[in-house]
Amino acid sequence: MTSLSDLPVDVSPRHEGERIRSGDMYVELAGPKSFGAELFRVVDEDELEPDKVEVIGPDIDEMEEGERYPFGILVRAAGEDLEEDVEGVLERRIHEFCNYVEGFMHLNQRDQIWCRVSKDAVEKGFRLEHLGIALRELFKEEFGNVIDAIEVTLMTDEDRVKEFVEKAREIYRKRDERARELSEEDVDEFYVCLMCQSFAPTHVCVITPDRPSLCGSITWHDAKAAYKIDPEGPIFPIEKGECLDPEAGEYDGVNEAVREHSQGAVERVYLHSCLEHPHTSCGCFQAVVFYIPEVDGFGIVDREYQGDTPLGMPFSTLAGEASGGEQKPGFVGVSYGYMESDKFLQYDGGWERVVWMPKALKERVKHAIPDELYDKIATEEDATTVEELREFLEEVEHPVVERWEEEEEEVEAEEERAEEAAEERPTMELEELPVAPGGGLNVKIVLKNAKIYAERVIIKREDREGKG
Ligand code: SF4
Ligand SMILES: [Zn+2]
Repeated sequence: MTSLSDLPVDVSPRHEGERIRSGDMYVELAGPKSFGAELFRVVDEDELEPDKVEVIGPDIDEMEEGERYPFGILVRAAGEDLEEDVEGVLERRIHEFCNYVEGFMHLNQRDQIWCRVSKDAVEKGFRLEHLGIALRELFKEEFGNVIDAIEVTLMTDEDRVKEFVEKAREIYRKRDERARELSEEDVDEFYVCLMCQSFAPTHVCVITPDRPSLCGSITWHDAKAAYKIDPEGPIFPIEKGECLDPEAGEYDGVNEAVREHSQGAVERVYLHSCLEHPHTSCGCFQAVVFYIPEVDGFGIVDREYQGDTPLGMPFSTLAGEASGGEQKPGFVGVSYGYMESDKFLQYDGGWERVVWMPKALKERVKHAIPDELYDKIATEEDATTVEELREFLEEVEHPVVERWEEEEEEVEAEEERAEEAAEERPTMELEELPVAPGGGLNVKIVLKNAKIYAERVIIKREDREGKG
């Protein structure tokens, strides 16, 4: 049987960071301009043919250089101690293992995968079959303790991939549904994943029953299962600790864990806020939530959407802003699963504060959006600029409009108060101001809505007790 060392290309973790630019690419598989998915299934041993690697549809040598093809990766495994609840975590490893293969690039996850094969690899004789062998061997190597038999199927045939994507989505949905049966109050432990620290060194993913990982592939159940089969791995439990703010989702156990594993870079996390102490984002989020100050609301854009957001930037630019593993108030990477959570951005107002989403995304998470808000959230068909968005929101009476009114009223009230206060305030000569012991003036001067004009301002420091 073919082993890793027999393959025409090298397979090792050192190829993980390898990027294949379009100029070096032989073909592209799945990705935003085509389609595809990946799936890991746990089955009974008699349902699979151990060690089989199959390619359904054209392999690389039957593809045309520079073209795109649909792509599906299906790994099926059996094992006495292998339970269905590990599927999500093992599936997430497909990304990592594919990237071990020299000349093969794998981005994202689930039905958002995007792969490329380099010209160099093809010249060396690389075929998809070799990718299948690499996956088989790497899974056996890493999870030999639980995997007794494994089979890998790679699909490039359009109809087969289409069918496969449908089926995969059904399974993702079931997994995510199961995850929603629990909430943060029901458990004492959350999980942390550090897998993405290889490229976002201060990024710590906190996974709770209400907040599946931002890459969308690890729910709280998945994390628990992952720890069970791989206790030395990048996913491990943390004490939830005391809940410091239930709306914000602030827990002292989370703060402590994040501080420790970000090497002190992140001190505090509000799990359910985009504006204050937001969760960090690496780069693999399924969607990004971004604050639009002009309307005091949030836009959400996912990877699938190719156009511009009302901020005049596409997903890729916003993703660049949000990613890197630092806290960026006003930006937070999220998964579809988190959008479906009851606690989604609850500290900031939740769905009532969401004002813009691509049409396809809105449709995808429709069941999570409160009915009365569905038509009030603009899409690219309603608004492509902030001005258009403002108009749309006013027209449909989106709840954020009330916030604008409140804000305006507050400003007005503040101005009135200031005026009244100015009228009532007895005038005081400077000499009368209370003087603190030691001679220094100890007053706080607050200027509200004041304009100060001066030709020159001189500020001098005077020694209190004279020189010396
Ligand atoms: S995004 Fe988070 S949960 Fe997903 S692999 Fe990276 S660190 Fe782990
Ligand atoms: Zn990541």
